[in-house]
Amino acid sequence: MAPTRILIVEDEEAIVDLVRSYLIQEGFQVDVARDGPTSLAKARAFRPDLVVLDIMLPGLDGIEVLRQLRQESSVYVVLLTARAEETDKIVGLAVGADDYVTKPFSPRELVARIKAILRRSRGGEEPSLPLVFRSLRIDPARREVRKDEQRVDLTTREFDLLHALAAYPGRVLTREQIIERVWGPDYFGDDRVVDAHIKDLRRKLGDDASRPRFIQTVRGVGYKFGDEPA
Ligand code: CA
Repeated sequence: MAPTRILIVEDEEAIVDLVRSYLIQEGFQVDVARDGPTSLAKARAFRPDLVVLDIMLPGLDGIEVLRQLRQESSVYVVLLTARAEETDKIVGLAVGADDYVTKPFSPRELVARIKAILRRSRGGEEPSLPLVFRSLRIDPARREVRKDEQRVDLTTREFDLLHALAAYPGRVLTREQIIERVWGPDYFGDDRVVDAHIKDLRRKLGDDASRPRFIQTVRGVGYKFGDEPA
């Protein structure tokens, strides 16, 4: 199997060195870009499987790079954000980042996040274990959902949607991310299709939209699985 390619986009040389050496040690093939415009050119030429993208970059900031990347590919993106820039995370996830780490971060943590994303994306390669959340049990191998031991009858899309959200408990997924995972990267259409399916799912799970136990609405961003107040 060809090595997984990772593009590091960062202008701080110390971070580049650290991250690069960790990733190489883990067997990844690594390329580096040190400003926004170069990163877009390298993304096209190097065709990475995943991009580690700093937000503060010369030339073009990371959010803008991400926005442009998303117009041409569905490459996985992990953002590097500064602790102070809370809004960057929200915007970054809204624009289509798959995850983020906050500076200062340990390279070990970054590598763990990267591996988690790659593992999820290759979901077929390992046994998908049932996800259990309180009275709800989601079994991907059988494509079966049970609530209080009773089988819940879901359509294929509804099952995939529920599974996509439940696989990341507590994490917000944007409508775009949900569409990409459930409908596929080639889907063209209104992202309100997500809202309509969420509504059906909630009804079938007996979840009340005003006090949901399973699927939370995160206004202006998307949805998340879990029962903390949004
Ligand atoms: Ca930077």
